[in-house]
Formats: sequence, C-alpha cells, structure tokens
Amino acid sequence: MRQRIVAQSIVDRRAIVLCRGITEGSVHVVKDRQSGAERHGRCGPVIVCSSCRQMLTNATARTMINGSHEHTFDNPHGVRFRIGCFAWVSHCEVVMPASIYWSWFPGHAWQVEVCSRCGEHLGWLFRSADSTFHGLILDRLMELDQEPD
Ligand SMILES: [Zn+2]
Repeated sequence: MRQRIVAQSIVDRRAIVLCRGITEGSVHVVKDRQSGAERHGRCGPVIVCSSCRQMLTNATARTMINGSHEHTFDNPHGVRFRIGCFAWVSHCEVVMPASIYWSWFPGHAWQVEVCSRCGEHLGWLFRSADSTFHGLILDRLMELDQEPD
C-alpha cells in the first residue's frame, strides 16, 4: 500500500511526527529535524471522524483554553455541544465566513468546520488576534489507539 502522510505534528523542536496511513496499523515515523533521520515512534492516540474514520488530529494536539480542554456550550437555538479544544487538525474544511455572533470564546471569531471527506459538521475554528484553535464536537470524534512500537 502506498504510504501517504495524513497528518503532521510538531511534538518538540527537534522532531516532527509524520502519521502515515491509519488503515495499515498506524505506522508513525518520527523525523529528526536536524539530521533528517527517521525512526518509528508513537504520537499518541489518533483522533478520527466518527462517521468516515478520516484522520483529523491526535492526542498531542489537545490544548487547554480558559483552563480546560473540554467545554459545554449552547448555541442560540438551544442546541448543546460538548467540544474539545485542539491546537491543530487536518482534513477539516472551513465552510462559512468568520463571525463573532454568539462566540463561546469572547474575542474569538468562529467559522464552521466540516470533515473534508464526508461533510459532517465537526466543530469550529476559533481565531483571535493572538490565538487560533479548533473546537471539535467530542461525540463526532473517535479515538483509535496506536499499535505498540
Ligand atoms: Zn468524516
């Protein structure tokens, strides 16, 4: 099977984790930034779209906003969402212009994000002058464990 890099995260200053093809057992390659040397490694559980299993992010991308990774909010229609905050995602597409109406994070504009493969609404991109993060709807995500090294 042809390997395809489906996600990339910078785990520290020295290494980049390349996540390749979750369908073939989550092979992860850690690439040293200076030497370019590659070794197999782990980058934590992979987080995928629960509808189509598209790779979206991984556990290392979880981030705390206002002191918490998880938040529960109601939208103006009274629909409740439980979201988790992630520093980076891949394969999410922004589908609407930015808005500040009813923003759950004051000072941040939001845009709807959908899965690039199946179109499921996965969450929102939040952006302010000095911070950008993704709030993904936790019950639309699925976490897959990595295989051991
Ligand atoms: Zn999907």
